[in-house]
Amino acid sequence: MEKITILSPHCDDAVFSLGLTLGLWSMASLHLQVLNFFTESAYAPHAPVKTVAEISAIRKAEDERAIAFIHDGIKIISLDLLDAPLRLHLPFSQITQLQSVEQISPEELRQLSQHIQQHCLQSLAIAPLGLGNHVDHMAVQKASTACLPPQDLAFYEDLPYITWTSAFDVQIRIKSIEDSTGVGLSPLILRTQNAVAQKRQIASFYQSQITLEEADTIAGYAECYGSGERLWLPTNSERWAEVLQL
Ligand SMILES: [Zn+2]
Repeated sequence: MEKITILSPHCDDAVFSLGLTLGLWSMASLHLQVLNFFTESAYAPHAPVKTVAEISAIRKAEDERAIAFIHDGIKIISLDLLDAPLRLHLPFSQITQLQSVEQISPEELRQLSQHIQQHCLQSLAIAPLGLGNHVDHMAVQKASTACLPPQDLAFYEDLPYITWTSAFDVQIRIKSIEDSTGVGLSPLILRTQNAVAQKRQIASFYQSQITLEEADTIAGYAECYGSGERLWLPTNSERWAEVLQL
């Protein structure tokens, strides 16, 4: 059976961005694993805890509960890497500034690539586009683009960041990735009934991270695609076409 690895910078990105897709692929009996990268974190604006150990544990527990709710067969792997504020000593205000991407060293990209290659052996992979320019999302996007065969690598739209990103900026990011890999990307929309209600329910597991209003924003974005999520697949990839029966 073909395996798909979801490259998730933090303990919520796979579910916020691909919650419906994970459910649909699980129902199609695809073997899924979520690879969480920067899981050591002090970011939990809505949790009454303070230490990195407490916050990291809460965030992992939220993710485990949400993913188990979607399907109990989805595997989660945690790399236990430090997130950007802890690793790069950047203030939160600079985490999503494009110039912060320059803080990602070649050595860090090399180490991320090693993790990705180790966990994506004999697996298709789907990475964040890095919309919103969060430095951790950009690091995973750049490392995966650098080390995986472009025909096996798809991309997802980072939520909630895409909700404030223009369609023009999305196209610029797509073009930039296409130029770096030499392989075109084609959109695929996966739809399900009651997408907004489903996404609101699974986003609400992450109570340390978002308010109910923010869960509504994430969920409501599914309306842009007629009750769905949009992915970007390598054009003419036989493996992806076979796995998704396109
Ligand atoms: Zn994230």
